[in-house]
Amino acid sequence: HPASVKLGTITAEGTADIYCYQCNDSRLDPELAAHLANFGINVLTQTKTEKSMTELQIEHNLNFDFSMTGDDGKSLEPVFGAGLTGLANLGNSCYMASVIQSLFSLPAFQTRFYPTSLAHAATCPEPLPASCLECQMGKLADGLLSGRYSHPRKVPDPSAVVHSPSPDAPDHTAPQFQEGLKPTMFKALIGKGHEEFSTMRQQDSEEFLAHLLKSLRQDAKKKSEAEEEQPTGVFRFGLEQRLQCMNCKKVRYRVDSQDSISVPVPAKEKSPVFVEGGDPPKVEYEPVELLRCLEAALGTETLEYACPSCGTNVMLEKQSRFSTFPDVFVIHAKKFQLVNWVPVKLAQDVPVNLPPNDELSLDAFIGLGKQEGEVELPEEAAAVAPAMPQINEAAMGQLQAMGFGTNACQRALLATGNSDAEQAMNWLFQHMEDPDLNDPPVIAPVAKSGPEPSADDIAGLSDMGFTPAQARKALRETGGSMERAVEWLFSHPDDAGEEAGASSTGPAAAASSHPGGSNALPARYHLKAFISHKGPSVHSG
Ligand SMILES: [Zn+2]
Ligand SMILES: [Zn+2]
Ligand SMILES: [Zn+2]
Repeated sequence: HPASVKLGTITAEGTADIYCYQCNDSRLDPELAAHLANFGINVLTQTKTEKSMTELQIEHNLNFDFSMTGDDGKSLEPVFGAGLTGLANLGNSCYMASVIQSLFSLPAFQTRFYPTSLAHAATCPEPLPASCLECQMGKLADGLLSGRYSHPRKVPDPSAVVHSPSPDAPDHTAPQFQEGLKPTMFKALIGKGHEEFSTMRQQDSEEFLAHLLKSLRQDAKKKSEAEEEQPTGVFRFGLEQRLQCMNCKKVRYRVDSQDSISVPVPAKEKSPVFVEGGDPPKVEYEPVELLRCLEAALGTETLEYACPSCGTNVMLEKQSRFSTFPDVFVIHAKKFQLVNWVPVKLAQDVPVNLPPNDELSLDAFIGLGKQEGEVELPEEAAAVAPAMPQINEAAMGQLQAMGFGTNACQRALLATGNSDAEQAMNWLFQHMEDPDLNDPPVIAPVAKSGPEPSADDIAGLSDMGFTPAQARKALRETGGSMERAVEWLFSHPDDAGEEAGASSTGPAAAASSHPGGSNALPARYHLKAFISHKGPSVHSG
C-alpha cells in the first residue's frame, strides 16, 4: 500500500506518523529507518519538529471539557466520598480507567484488594512496590475506595483573579469536579513488556480487561493462591460448543472456559432521508435489542465440514450454549461486520437496547451436554490434506480467454492471491518457462512453523470475536493473509488455536478442569457497568 510519512514527526529512533490511504488508517513500520533510507532520508539526522498524532490526541484529551450534562439536560452534580474517586486521564488512557472503575465497583475486587492492601505491604516479597501487581492493585483499591482522595479540583486563589481580570478566569460558580488519581505506576507495570499497553496510544478496553485478568491470574498462580480466593473467577463460565454432522447426525461437544462473550451487532441501516440540495444523508442504524445480539452469537450456523465419520465433505451444524453461567457476565459488542470476508467497522453508532426492566435472562441459552441417544463423532485424522481453494471464476475466465491452460491459470491465481486476473497474468508471463506450468497445481500443506503473525492482524481477528489463539493459528495456517485466515476460521469451528509461546496460561488452559461459573437457574443479570468509546479508529471503540 502506498503510505505517507509526516516529515516533521520522524525521530532518530525511527518512529514517525505513517498514514495509509488505502487502509484509511494510521500504521506502524518497524522497518521505517530502512524504508526511509531508500529515499535518501537518514533517520539519525532527523529532528522532530511537529507533534505526532498520539501527542495531538493526548493534548486534545487533556484539554477536553467533557459535557457535564445528562440526557435530561440537567447539569451533572459532582459527588465525593468512599468509592466515588475519579481517575485522571494519563493521555489516551480512558480505556484503562473505565475498566478499573468497573472492576472496583464489583464486591469481589473490593473485598480482595481493599482491606488486605496494608497487610500485604508489610510482607510484600518484591524489592519494589512498582514491580508488584498486588501492591499496585492494593494502592488503586485504597485510592478509589477509601474516599481519602475524593476532593474537589483545586482552583487558583479567587483573590488573585480579582486583581487581574481576564476572559480566561475560571468560573467560580461552576461546580468543581475531581482531579482524580493518576495511576501511572499501575499503568507502567501492567503495560510492561506488552507491545500495545506499554504505549501512550489509544487501546481497546475489552483487550485491556483480558490482559489484566490474565496478568492477575499469572500473579495468583505465582503465589499459589487458591482459585476460589481470586476475584477474577467471577467472570468465568463454560461455553459449550455442539457440532452435528447433518448427514450422519453424529455430534461432538466441547466446553471452553471464557471470561466474556463477543456478540455481533446485527445492524440494519435506516432508509436514508434525502433532502433536496442538502448533504448526502448520513448512514443511521435501527436500534438493536441486546437479546438479538446474544441470539446471533449463540444461534445455529451451518458450515461445510469434512466429517471424519462420513469421510467426505458434508454440511455441519454448529451451536454455542452456556454449560455454566458467570457471576458477572461481560458482553463485548463487535464493532465489525464482515462484508465479502473483509471486516468493516460499523460506520456509525448503533443503539443497543437493554432488555425490559433491565433484566437479562440467559435461562434459554443453557447447554445440557451430550443427550441420550446421541452418537459421538470420531476424532479427526491427524493430518488432513488441505483442500483445493475455490478458484476465482471471473479471473479464471479472463485468463482462459487469453489462451492459457486450466492448470496454468489455477497455478497463477493461487500464487497471486486468487483475486486479480491482471496479477495472475503477470505471474504467467514470468513463469512461461516453468516446466511444471501446465501440471495440476500442488497445494502444499502450510508448515506449522510459518512466520509469527503480526500483533495487528491477531488484534484485528480478535476484534471480530475469535480468540487470539484461534487468530494466531489461522494466520499461521494461511501464511498471514487476513482474508484467508477468516475463511480458515469459519471452516475450522472446532479448532482452539495455539497459544503464543509455551509459557502461556490463557483461560483455555483451564478447559480440562472446571470451567468456572454455575449452572444453577435462573440466570438473570442486571446492568452494572457500561463502557463505550466514540471514535472512528478501528483500534478502539
Ligand atoms: Zn495499507
Ligand atoms: Zn507487593
Ligand atoms: Zn457425518
